[in-house]
Amino acid sequence: MQEAHVRMLPVPRYHMDRIVMMSRILFVAGMCLFFAQLVSSAEPPEAANKPNLLMITLDTVRADYLSCNGSKKAQTPHLDRLARGGVNFTRARTSVPLTLPAHASIMTGNYPPVHGVRDNGSYRLPEEQLTLAEVLHGHGYETAAFIGAFVLDRDFGVAQGFDVFDEGDWGNVNALENLAAERSADAVRDAFSSWLMDRAGTRPFFAWIHLYDPHAPYVPPEPFRKRYAENPYAGEIAYTDTVVGKIVEDLESSKLLGSTLIAVVGDHGEALGEHGEQTHSLLIYNSTIHVPMLLHLPGLVTSGKTVEHLTRTIDLAPTILDYMGISQSIGQGTSLRPLVEGKRPDQEILAYSESLYPSLNLGWSELRGLEAGDYRFILAPSPELYDLTKDPGERESRIESNPTVADRLERSLATLMESMGPSVGRARQAVDPQTEEMLLSLGYLSTSQPPPQDGSSVVDPKEKMELWTKIESGLALFSRGDDTGALVIFKKALAEDDDIPILYDHIGWSHIRLNQYDQAERVYRQAIEHGFDSADLRANLGLIYYRRGDLAKAEKELRIALTLEVSSVTAHYRLADVYRATKNYPRAAEQYRQVLEINPDYVWALNGLGMTLAMTGKNEEALAAFRDAVRIAPEMAPGYLNLAVHLERMKLFPEALEAYRKFIDLSSGDEFAREREIAAAAFKRLQAR
Ligand SMILES: [Zn+2]
Repeated sequence: MQEAHVRMLPVPRYHMDRIVMMSRILFVAGMCLFFAQLVSSAEPPEAANKPNLLMITLDTVRADYLSCNGSKKAQTPHLDRLARGGVNFTRARTSVPLTLPAHASIMTGNYPPVHGVRDNGSYRLPEEQLTLAEVLHGHGYETAAFIGAFVLDRDFGVAQGFDVFDEGDWGNVNALENLAAERSADAVRDAFSSWLMDRAGTRPFFAWIHLYDPHAPYVPPEPFRKRYAENPYAGEIAYTDTVVGKIVEDLESSKLLGSTLIAVVGDHGEALGEHGEQTHSLLIYNSTIHVPMLLHLPGLVTSGKTVEHLTRTIDLAPTILDYMGISQSIGQGTSLRPLVEGKRPDQEILAYSESLYPSLNLGWSELRGLEAGDYRFILAPSPELYDLTKDPGERESRIESNPTVADRLERSLATLMESMGPSVGRARQAVDPQTEEMLLSLGYLSTSQPPPQDGSSVVDPKEKMELWTKIESGLALFSRGDDTGALVIFKKALAEDDDIPILYDHIGWSHIRLNQYDQAERVYRQAIEHGFDSADLRANLGLIYYRRGDLAKAEKELRIALTLEVSSVTAHYRLADVYRATKNYPRAAEQYRQVLEINPDYVWALNGLGMTLAMTGKNEEALAAFRDAVRIAPEMAPGYLNLAVHLERMKLFPEALEAYRKFIDLSSGDEFAREREIAAAAFKRLQAR
């Protein structure tokens, strides 16, 4: 086999196109699971007379922006209509102001310390967690999810229990316009509508629709852009509301509105400058913890009811099961049905909230909060207490003037935290280089610094808001791919405070993306001297030396990375690259196998393994690896090229011809222009035989 053919497969790494492919791989992997589950799904008779469930999660929507909650900021007639015909929980609290952990809480009814997901990106909802989808699936429901953003990709564990997990193709996002991999509410609704039209089943369904638009950046489509020019965030909410209207219409026109319980819930709010915070993630005030929550099914759920009592998003799943007549218990929450029906809840409702974002990413203290009765207590280096009746905006802490209440809430919080287990979750996952790059582009990277086990630090996040706002604006530029602009901001921030791990990470990455390896190396060395050593950082140093052709140094750094974190997919994968470059194929194969042990579906490692095996004459084994790669990712073009070249080499001509054809059909754009020429020539050559 010609080395030229072999070499071309690993297309340029750390490039947007790889992300496109990664998303396809994930999507396709999802489809495989989908069919497997369809085949195996039994049909318990119990479901026959149950209502359908449609859950809409609204990303980043403040409860006080809905007109049914008395707001004049945005017109939300469709959500208002659901509120009028159902129950509006006007004091609902999420448990954490971050998309993935907050959704994990909604789906499991558990607080983050119990479900283990503490941040976006680097955590995965563990299989042992019981989700609402799993419960309903087990009771004979057909389950389908339609997702609006990569941050809830199936790779992060929230697909548990869904027959269909439709996350679209993040690769279709125009990279120049907006790197944040999201799809519009209309696109998500389209996916839901066609699923609804096509479904032939007679079983009841649970459909989850995630609408991401109100998340920053705020760029609503017309006419909302013009209509809400002075408040584009409100425009995003008004736009999202119209899509909610279309979804309800879909149910109506399918004659399903009368038999479908609709639940609407927010994952977290948006600070919009309150307490010095612009978006969400860091602080746990009501700006980001108070969320909309509605239930609607006239005849089953009381119509036109407002519940002003304190409630939580973890109560939604048990409440839904209660209304559906499914007695299985789920999570830590409680059914809100007694409250709706004017009775006392089965247990006293205390609302726990947390943000570990500051401790996991910034070296600052984590925040934990407990709301009970009229008060919210926030545990921080300098703790706070708010009287929410007198001070709903949480502007003036009463910790000094009301020590009795503060002590009582602090004790309750301590008891609750102790009952929930260790401070930092167990659900951290090994991220591969492509997912890491995708998350970086979204501004979602969590550093892999070993977090302080108790989350304690003397630095209080609320004292750092000016610096955080700066860092956040840098992250926004970074996620749009403006590395030069981001670097200016990050470096200013670093000059102000050199104790923030996320800054070293991002400065290094920006320099790498700009091919400024000397500067990247310098900042990583600085981080190590500062005590911020980590597997990711060493793996990036390895990448820098690899790109410079200094393979011995690259190997050394990658080996250090693996001593810091033995299951670092990135380090194993890059080490394999280094060995391949030095033509040490057995060791390269060994590293690819290590990757596959951690993640058996990692297609790039299968391709790499196939190539290294082929180079050492292990043709049958190589063929198996190439076949596995296209089986796992049947829409991924380069896999077919490798397979084709290898099949031709093994003189399996008809199969080779077919694989070349697949590659030509699937590949497009400039990236594979040369490869397509080679494949076309090979195709002709084989056809002529
Ligand atoms: Zn969110």
